Amino acid sequence: MHSNGQQAAPAPATALQTVFSLAGKRALITGGGSGIGFDIARCMVAAGAEVVITGRREQPLQDAIATLGEQAFYRVNDVTERDALEALVDDIERTYGPIDILVNNAGINLKKPALEVTDADFDRIVHTNLNAVFSLTRTCAARMLQRGSGSIIMISSMAAYYGIDRVVAYAASKSAVEGMVKVLASEFSGKGVRVNAIAPGFIETAMSKTAMGGDPDRFARAMRRTPMGKFGQPEDIGWAAVFLASEAAKYVTGVSLPVDGGNSIGF
Ligand code: NDP
Repeated sequence: MHSNGQQAAPAPATALQTVFSLAGKRALITGGGSGIGFDIARCMVAAGAEVVITGRREQPLQDAIATLGEQAFYRVNDVTERDALEALVDDIERTYGPIDILVNNAGINLKKPALEVTDADFDRIVHTNLNAVFSLTRTCAARMLQRGSGSIIMISSMAAYYGIDRVVAYAASKSAVEGMVKVLASEFSGKGVRVNAIAPGFIETAMSKTAMGGDPDRFARAMRRTPMGKFGQPEDIGWAAVFLASEAAKYVTGVSLPVDGGNSIGF
Protein backbone atom coordinates (compact mmCIF):
# COMPACT_ATOMS: atom_id res chain seq x y z
CA MET A 1 0.00 0.00 0.00
CA HIS A 2 1.33 3.48 -0.93
CA SER A 3 1.40 6.30 1.61
CA ASN A 4 -1.42 8.00 -0.41
CA GLY A 5 -3.64 4.99 0.34
CA GLN A 6 -3.52 3.53 -3.19
CA GLN A 7 -2.48 -0.04 -3.79
CA ALA A 8 0.73 -0.68 -5.71
CA ALA A 9 0.33 -2.41 -9.08
CA PRO A 10 0.94 -6.15 -8.82
CA ALA A 11 3.91 -7.57 -10.70
CA PRO A 12 2.82 -8.82 -14.15
CA ALA A 13 3.27 -12.47 -13.25
CA THR A 14 1.25 -11.96 -10.07
CA ALA A 15 -1.56 -10.27 -11.99
CA LEU A 16 -1.79 -13.23 -14.35
CA GLN A 17 -1.73 -15.70 -11.49
CA THR A 18 -4.37 -13.83 -9.49
CA VAL A 19 -6.83 -11.44 -11.11
CA PHE A 20 -6.93 -13.07 -14.55
CA SER A 21 -6.61 -16.60 -13.21
CA LEU A 22 -9.50 -19.06 -13.32
CA ALA A 23 -7.69 -21.62 -11.16
CA GLY A 24 -10.14 -23.50 -8.94
CA LYS A 25 -13.09 -22.47 -11.14
CA ARG A 26 -15.28 -24.78 -13.21
CA ALA A 27 -16.96 -23.66 -16.45
CA LEU A 28 -19.84 -25.20 -18.38
CA ILE A 29 -19.52 -24.23 -22.05
CA THR A 30 -22.33 -25.22 -24.42
CA GLY A 31 -21.29 -26.04 -27.98
CA GLY A 32 -17.70 -26.39 -26.80
CA GLY A 33 -16.66 -29.12 -29.23
CA SER A 34 -15.90 -26.78 -32.12
CA GLY A 35 -15.57 -23.20 -33.33
CA ILE A 36 -15.75 -20.38 -30.79
CA GLY A 37 -16.90 -22.67 -27.94
CA PHE A 38 -13.81 -24.86 -28.30
CA ASP A 39 -11.51 -21.85 -28.06
CA ILE A 40 -13.39 -20.48 -25.06
CA ALA A 41 -12.72 -23.87 -23.42
CA ARG A 42 -9.07 -23.81 -24.55
CA CYS A 43 -8.44 -20.30 -23.18
CA MET A 44 -10.24 -21.07 -19.92
CA VAL A 45 -8.16 -24.23 -19.42
CA ALA A 46 -5.04 -22.16 -20.12
CA ALA A 47 -6.21 -19.74 -17.41
CA GLY A 48 -6.48 -22.65 -14.96
CA ALA A 49 -10.18 -23.58 -15.10
CA GLU A 50 -11.73 -27.01 -15.33
CA VAL A 51 -14.23 -27.10 -18.21
CA VAL A 52 -17.20 -29.23 -19.15
CA ILE A 53 -18.16 -28.85 -22.80
CA THR A 54 -21.40 -29.96 -24.42
CA GLY A 55 -22.75 -30.57 -27.91
CA ARG A 56 -25.14 -32.85 -29.74
CA ARG A 57 -22.47 -35.09 -31.33
CA GLU A 58 -20.02 -37.18 -29.32
CA GLN A 59 -17.07 -37.39 -31.73
CA PRO A 60 -16.20 -33.65 -31.84
CA LEU A 61 -16.45 -33.54 -28.05
CA GLN A 62 -14.11 -36.52 -27.65
CA ASP A 63 -11.65 -34.96 -30.11
CA ALA A 64 -11.88 -31.64 -28.25
CA ILE A 65 -11.12 -33.04 -24.80
CA ALA A 66 -8.25 -35.07 -26.24
CA THR A 67 -6.72 -31.70 -27.17
CA LEU A 68 -7.82 -29.81 -24.06
CA GLY A 69 -6.30 -32.30 -21.63
CA GLU A 70 -7.03 -33.48 -18.11
CA GLN A 71 -8.96 -30.41 -17.01
CA ALA A 72 -11.65 -30.98 -19.66
CA PHE A 73 -14.75 -33.18 -19.63
CA TYR A 74 -17.77 -33.48 -21.87
CA ARG A 75 -21.44 -34.36 -21.89
CA VAL A 76 -23.49 -35.11 -25.00
CA ASN A 77 -26.45 -32.78 -24.67
CA ASP A 78 -28.89 -30.93 -26.91
CA VAL A 79 -29.68 -27.60 -25.23
CA THR A 80 -33.07 -27.48 -26.93
CA GLU A 81 -34.22 -30.43 -24.81
CA ARG A 82 -35.04 -28.06 -22.02
CA ASP A 83 -36.53 -30.68 -19.66
CA ALA A 84 -33.14 -32.42 -19.54
CA LEU A 85 -31.09 -29.37 -18.50
CA GLU A 86 -31.72 -29.69 -14.76
CA ALA A 87 -30.47 -33.31 -14.91
CA LEU A 88 -27.42 -32.20 -16.92
CA VAL A 89 -26.43 -29.60 -14.34
CA ASP A 90 -27.14 -32.04 -11.48
CA ASP A 91 -24.94 -34.64 -13.11
CA ILE A 92 -22.07 -32.20 -13.73
CA GLU A 93 -22.17 -30.74 -10.22
CA ARG A 94 -22.40 -34.18 -8.59
CA THR A 95 -19.56 -35.57 -10.69
CA TYR A 96 -17.13 -32.65 -10.82
CA GLY A 97 -18.34 -29.96 -8.40
CA PRO A 98 -20.07 -26.57 -8.61
CA ILE A 99 -20.36 -24.72 -11.91
CA ASP A 100 -18.84 -21.26 -11.30
CA ILE A 101 -18.98 -20.05 -14.91
CA LEU A 102 -21.69 -20.67 -17.51
CA VAL A 103 -20.97 -19.82 -21.14
CA ASN A 104 -24.07 -19.97 -23.34
CA ASN A 105 -22.23 -20.40 -26.63
CA ALA A 106 -24.22 -23.03 -28.60
CA GLY A 107 -26.07 -21.29 -31.39
CA ILE A 108 -27.37 -21.79 -34.89
CA ASN A 109 -27.98 -19.46 -37.80
CA LEU A 110 -30.22 -19.51 -40.85
CA LYS A 111 -29.74 -17.33 -43.91
CA LYS A 112 -32.94 -16.73 -45.85
CA PRO A 113 -34.85 -13.67 -47.00
CA ALA A 114 -37.40 -12.83 -44.29
CA LEU A 115 -40.42 -13.70 -46.43
CA GLU A 116 -39.09 -17.23 -46.97
CA VAL A 117 -38.58 -17.92 -43.27
CA THR A 118 -41.29 -20.32 -42.12
CA ASP A 119 -42.70 -20.37 -38.60
CA ALA A 120 -40.87 -23.67 -38.08
CA ASP A 121 -37.57 -22.06 -39.19
CA PHE A 122 -38.09 -19.11 -36.89
CA ASP A 123 -39.04 -21.29 -33.93
CA ARG A 124 -36.00 -23.56 -34.42
CA ILE A 125 -33.53 -20.66 -34.30
CA VAL A 126 -35.23 -18.92 -31.38
CA HIS A 127 -35.59 -22.19 -29.50
CA THR A 128 -31.83 -22.85 -29.62
CA ASN A 129 -30.45 -19.32 -29.35
CA LEU A 130 -32.90 -17.88 -26.83
CA ASN A 131 -35.31 -20.28 -25.10
CA ALA A 132 -32.66 -22.86 -24.28
CA VAL A 133 -30.28 -20.12 -23.12
CA PHE A 134 -32.89 -18.91 -20.66
CA SER A 135 -33.64 -22.39 -19.30
CA LEU A 136 -30.00 -23.34 -18.76
CA THR A 137 -29.21 -19.93 -17.29
CA ARG A 138 -32.10 -20.17 -14.83
CA THR A 139 -30.96 -23.63 -13.74
CA CYS A 140 -27.32 -22.61 -13.21
CA ALA A 141 -28.13 -19.18 -11.77
CA ALA A 142 -30.34 -20.65 -9.02
CA ARG A 143 -27.36 -22.65 -7.77
CA MET A 144 -24.88 -19.79 -8.20
CA LEU A 145 -27.16 -17.46 -6.25
CA GLN A 146 -27.39 -19.98 -3.40
CA ARG A 147 -23.59 -20.05 -3.29
CA GLY A 148 -23.39 -16.24 -3.68
CA SER A 149 -21.03 -16.24 -6.65
CA GLY A 150 -20.90 -16.94 -10.36
CA SER A 151 -20.35 -15.53 -13.81
CA ILE A 152 -22.70 -16.03 -16.76
CA ILE A 153 -21.59 -15.16 -20.27
CA MET A 154 -23.84 -15.13 -23.34
CA ILE A 155 -22.36 -15.30 -26.81
CA SER A 156 -24.40 -12.73 -28.70
CA SER A 157 -23.66 -11.24 -32.13
CA MET A 158 -23.27 -8.00 -34.06
CA ALA A 159 -26.54 -9.12 -35.66
CA ALA A 160 -28.22 -7.91 -32.45
CA TYR A 161 -27.26 -4.33 -33.38
CA TYR A 162 -27.25 -4.06 -37.17
CA GLY A 163 -29.74 -4.83 -39.88
CA ILE A 164 -27.82 -7.66 -41.52
CA ASP A 165 -29.88 -9.05 -44.42
CA ARG A 166 -31.36 -12.53 -44.33
CA VAL A 167 -30.85 -13.35 -40.65
CA VAL A 168 -34.18 -12.23 -39.23
CA ALA A 169 -34.65 -15.09 -36.74
CA TYR A 170 -30.99 -15.08 -35.69
CA ALA A 171 -30.99 -11.30 -35.13
CA ALA A 172 -34.26 -11.49 -33.18
CA SER A 173 -32.86 -14.23 -30.94
CA LYS A 174 -29.55 -12.45 -30.25
CA SER A 175 -31.27 -9.08 -29.59
CA ALA A 176 -33.50 -10.83 -27.06
CA VAL A 177 -30.46 -12.39 -25.37
CA GLU A 178 -28.95 -8.91 -25.00
CA GLY A 179 -32.16 -7.73 -23.30
CA MET A 180 -32.05 -10.76 -21.02
CA VAL A 181 -28.47 -9.94 -19.98
CA LYS A 182 -29.52 -6.53 -18.63
CA VAL A 183 -32.49 -7.87 -16.65
CA LEU A 184 -30.57 -10.81 -15.19
CA ALA A 185 -27.61 -8.60 -14.31
CA SER A 186 -29.97 -6.23 -12.54
CA GLU A 187 -31.59 -9.09 -10.57
CA PHE A 188 -28.48 -11.12 -9.76
CA SER A 189 -25.48 -8.78 -9.50
CA GLY A 190 -26.18 -7.66 -5.94
CA LYS A 191 -26.10 -11.33 -4.95
CA GLY A 192 -22.66 -12.11 -6.40
CA VAL A 193 -23.62 -13.36 -9.86
CA ARG A 194 -22.48 -11.25 -12.81
CA VAL A 195 -24.13 -11.57 -16.23
CA ASN A 196 -22.51 -10.29 -19.42
CA ALA A 197 -22.43 -10.90 -23.16
CA ILE A 198 -19.76 -10.96 -25.82
CA ALA A 199 -20.80 -9.74 -29.26
CA PRO A 200 -18.38 -11.28 -31.78
CA GLY A 201 -17.92 -9.69 -35.18
CA PHE A 202 -16.84 -11.87 -38.10
CA ILE A 203 -15.00 -14.79 -36.52
CA GLU A 204 -13.49 -17.52 -38.67
CA THR A 205 -15.52 -20.68 -37.90
CA ALA A 206 -17.70 -23.22 -39.71
CA MET A 207 -20.73 -20.99 -39.03
CA SER A 208 -19.22 -17.87 -40.58
CA LYS A 209 -17.89 -19.83 -43.57
CA THR A 210 -21.42 -21.13 -44.19
CA ALA A 211 -22.84 -17.65 -43.68
CA MET A 212 -20.43 -16.21 -46.25
CA GLY A 213 -21.36 -19.10 -48.56
CA GLY A 214 -18.09 -18.85 -50.45
CA ASP A 215 -19.31 -15.50 -51.84
CA PRO A 216 -16.29 -13.18 -52.37
CA ASP A 217 -18.55 -10.08 -52.66
CA ARG A 218 -20.12 -10.82 -49.30
CA PHE A 219 -16.69 -11.36 -47.79
CA ALA A 220 -15.45 -8.03 -49.25
CA ARG A 221 -18.55 -6.23 -47.86
CA ALA A 222 -17.96 -7.73 -44.41
CA MET A 223 -14.33 -6.64 -44.48
CA ARG A 224 -15.31 -3.09 -45.55
CA ARG A 225 -17.35 -2.91 -42.34
CA THR A 226 -14.39 -4.15 -40.28
CA PRO A 227 -11.68 -1.49 -39.76
CA MET A 228 -9.08 -4.14 -38.91
CA GLY A 229 -9.77 -5.65 -42.35
CA LYS A 230 -9.66 -9.29 -41.31
CA PHE A 231 -11.72 -11.97 -39.62
CA GLY A 232 -11.25 -12.52 -35.91
CA GLN A 233 -10.06 -15.86 -34.59
CA PRO A 234 -12.07 -17.98 -32.12
CA GLU A 235 -9.42 -17.37 -29.45
CA ASP A 236 -10.18 -13.63 -29.58
CA ILE A 237 -13.56 -14.54 -28.09
CA GLY A 238 -11.89 -17.06 -25.76
CA TRP A 239 -9.65 -14.48 -24.10
CA ALA A 240 -12.53 -12.02 -23.77
CA ALA A 241 -14.49 -14.76 -22.00
CA VAL A 242 -11.57 -15.41 -19.65
CA PHE A 243 -11.53 -11.70 -18.78
CA LEU A 244 -15.28 -11.53 -18.12
CA ALA A 245 -15.18 -14.69 -15.99
CA SER A 246 -12.18 -13.54 -13.96
CA GLU A 247 -11.70 -11.30 -10.94
CA ALA A 248 -10.31 -8.68 -13.34
CA ALA A 249 -13.94 -8.07 -14.36
CA LYS A 250 -15.38 -8.17 -10.84
CA TYR A 251 -17.12 -4.78 -11.31
CA VAL A 252 -18.35 -5.55 -14.85
CA THR A 253 -21.94 -6.71 -15.24
CA GLY A 254 -24.85 -6.20 -17.62
CA VAL A 255 -22.67 -5.30 -20.60
CA SER A 256 -22.19 -6.66 -24.07
CA LEU A 257 -18.52 -6.53 -25.05
CA PRO A 258 -17.94 -6.20 -28.80
CA VAL A 259 -14.98 -8.28 -30.02
CA ASP A 260 -15.20 -7.40 -33.65
CA GLY A 261 -12.13 -5.74 -35.17
CA GLY A 262 -13.88 -2.37 -34.88
CA ASN A 263 -17.08 -3.42 -36.63
CA SER A 264 -19.23 -1.74 -33.99
CA ILE A 265 -17.65 1.68 -34.55
CA GLY A 266 -20.32 1.92 -37.25
CA PHE A 267 -19.24 3.70 -40.39
P1 NDP B 1 -20.23 -23.40 -34.98
O1 NDP B 1 -21.39 -23.77 -35.85
O2 NDP B 1 -18.85 -23.50 -35.50
O3 NDP B 1 -20.34 -24.17 -33.59
C1 NDP B 1 -21.57 -24.26 -32.91
C2 NDP B 1 -21.39 -25.27 -31.79
O4 NDP B 1 -22.64 -25.35 -31.08
C3 NDP B 1 -21.07 -26.64 -32.29
O5 NDP B 1 -20.08 -27.22 -31.45
C4 NDP B 1 -22.38 -27.41 -32.17
O6 NDP B 1 -22.10 -28.79 -31.92
C5 NDP B 1 -23.04 -26.71 -30.98
N1 NDP B 1 -24.50 -26.75 -31.00
C6 NDP B 1 -25.34 -26.33 -31.99
N2 NDP B 1 -26.60 -26.56 -31.63
C7 NDP B 1 -26.58 -27.14 -30.41
C8 NDP B 1 -27.56 -27.63 -29.53
N3 NDP B 1 -28.87 -27.59 -29.83
N4 NDP B 1 -27.19 -28.14 -28.34
C9 NDP B 1 -25.86 -28.21 -28.01
N5 NDP B 1 -24.89 -27.79 -28.80
C10 NDP B 1 -25.24 -27.24 -30.00
O7 NDP B 1 -20.56 -21.89 -34.54
P2 NDP B 1 -19.59 -20.74 -34.01
O8 NDP B 1 -18.51 -21.31 -33.20
O9 NDP B 1 -19.29 -19.83 -35.13
O10 NDP B 1 -20.64 -19.94 -33.07
C11 NDP B 1 -20.64 -20.06 -31.66
C12 NDP B 1 -21.50 -18.92 -31.11
O11 NDP B 1 -20.96 -17.68 -31.55
C13 NDP B 1 -22.95 -18.95 -31.60
O12 NDP B 1 -23.82 -18.59 -30.54
C14 NDP B 1 -22.96 -17.90 -32.69
O13 NDP B 1 -24.25 -17.34 -32.86
C15 NDP B 1 -21.97 -16.90 -32.15
N6 NDP B 1 -21.38 -16.01 -33.15
C16 NDP B 1 -20.53 -16.48 -34.13
C17 NDP B 1 -19.98 -15.59 -35.06
C18 NDP B 1 -19.00 -16.03 -36.11
O14 NDP B 1 -18.59 -15.18 -36.93
N7 NDP B 1 -18.60 -17.27 -36.17
C19 NDP B 1 -20.32 -14.17 -35.06
C20 NDP B 1 -21.23 -13.80 -34.01
C21 NDP B 1 -21.72 -14.69 -33.10
P3 NDP B 1 -23.12 -29.96 -32.41
O15 NDP B 1 -23.47 -29.64 -33.82
O16 NDP B 1 -22.35 -31.22 -32.23
O17 NDP B 1 -24.29 -29.87 -31.48
